[in-house]
Amino acid sequence: MLADHDRIFTNLYGLGDKSLAGARKRGAWNNTKALLKKGKDKIIAEVKESGLRGRGGAGFSTGLKWSFMPKQPDPARPSYLVVNADESEPGTCKDREIMRNDPHLLVEGCLVASFAMGAQTCYIYVRGEFVAEREALQRAVDEAYAARLIGRNNSHGWPFDLYVHHGAGAYICGEETALLESLEGKKGMPRLKPPFPAHVGLYGCPTTVNNVESIAVVPTILRRGSHWFAGIGRPNNTGTKLFSVSGHVNRPCNVEEAMSISFRELIERHCGGVRGGWGNLLAVIPGGSSVRCVPAHQIIDCPMDFDSLAKLGSGLGTAAAIVMDKSTDIIRAIARISYFYKHESCGQCTPCREGAGWMWRVVARMVEGRAHKREIDTLFEVSKQIEGHTICALGDAAAWPIQGLITHFRDVIERRIDQYAANPHPEPIRMAAE
Ligand code: SF4
Repeated sequence: MLADHDRIFTNLYGLGDKSLAGARKRGAWNNTKALLKKGKDKIIAEVKESGLRGRGGAGFSTGLKWSFMPKQPDPARPSYLVVNADESEPGTCKDREIMRNDPHLLVEGCLVASFAMGAQTCYIYVRGEFVAEREALQRAVDEAYAARLIGRNNSHGWPFDLYVHHGAGAYICGEETALLESLEGKKGMPRLKPPFPAHVGLYGCPTTVNNVESIAVVPTILRRGSHWFAGIGRPNNTGTKLFSVSGHVNRPCNVEEAMSISFRELIERHCGGVRGGWGNLLAVIPGGSSVRCVPAHQIIDCPMDFDSLAKLGSGLGTAAAIVMDKSTDIIRAIARISYFYKHESCGQCTPCREGAGWMWRVVARMVEGRAHKREIDTLFEVSKQIEGHTICALGDAAAWPIQGLITHFRDVIERRIDQYAANPHPEPIRMAAE
C-alpha cells in the first residue's frame, strides 16, 4: 500500500486550496530552478531511471520517448511538447481530477518536460466536454504567468509559453496524431506512422505527446529522486499510479496507489469491496473500456500493472477498472462498448470503419440470442482481422472487448442462443444505443 508521504497528488479530491498559494504549500514550484539546473540530459536520464511509463495507456517509457527529440535546436523547426488531456476512454476519470484540483503540478511539469526536450512552447489539448477543468487549468496557467513562473521572461530562465487548447469533444482526438491534426485546425483524423511525431509532429516539427499524469509526476520524481519512484511497485512497473475504479464496488473512486497493488487490495482498501462480496464478482475490465475483460478468478489476486495484466491477455491501459458483478449481462455490456467504438471510428480505414459496425451488429444480436453458434467463431476471426490492420489503435480498441467476451464468456453467448432458439422473442429487444 502507498504511504501518505509518497503521494504525489495530495489534492486529488479538491479539499485543499487549488490556487498557486495552496499548490506552493504542498510543494509545487519549490525551487524549480534547481530542477532545470540539472540540465536536459540529466533530467531525461533521471526520468528514464525512474522507470516512468506513459500513463495514457500505451505504457511506453517516458524518458526514452523524450530522448527521441532533437538534441540541437533548429530555429526553422522548433520542438513542441503537447499534453494529451483529451481523456475520453470510458471508465477513465483521473486526468480531470488533476486539472481541476491540482493543476499546478501539471503546469510545472510542462515547464520541466519542455525544458528537457528543448521546447519553448507547449500546448495542453483538453477534451471538449471538460469545461470546468479547462477553466481551472487556465486559471493556474494565468497565475503561473503572473508570478513569472512561466512566460518569455520567467524567473526560471527558460523562455516558455503554455497554451490551453479546448478540443471539440471527439474520442479519436485522444490518439496522438489525430490530436495534432485537430490542434492544427484540421479534422481529427489519425496520421499514418512513420514518421513519428518526434520527427514530424505539430506543424511538421519535432513533437512529443504525453499524457497529463505522465507530465504532472515529473517534478516530484526529480525532487525526490528517480530511485524513490523506482522503489515503488516492482521492476518495469514502477511508481505511483492513479486508478479510477467504477462499477459494482461499494465506493467507486479515484485513488493514487502503488503500481502493482493487487486488485483485491485496491478494492478492499479504497472501494469498500465488491458489491455483494468477492463471490459475486463476474469480471473486470481493468484498463478502460478498450482492453479485454478478465474473469473474476484471474483478476482477484493479480497485480495491477502493465506486465501482469498483459500476461492475462488484457492491459493496464489507463488503469480505469470497470468492475462487473454477477448481475451484469456481460454480452450487453460488451455490445454497448462495441457501439461506442463503432460510433467513434473516424472512418479513414476500411477494417475499422466497416468492421467496428459489423462487430457491433453481430454482438447486438447475440445480446438477445438471435444468432447462430457458428457466428461466434466468425466474429472472433473478424476481430482478429481488424486488430493490427488499421491506421491507429482504435481498430484494436474495437476488437479487444469482443475478443475478451468470446474468450471468457463463450458459454454465456451459447446459452443465450439456446434460450432464444427455445423461445424466440416476437419483437427484438432494442438496445439503448440503437
Ligand atoms: Fe480512423 Fe479507425 Fe482507422 Fe483509427 S483505426 S484511423 S479511428 S478508421
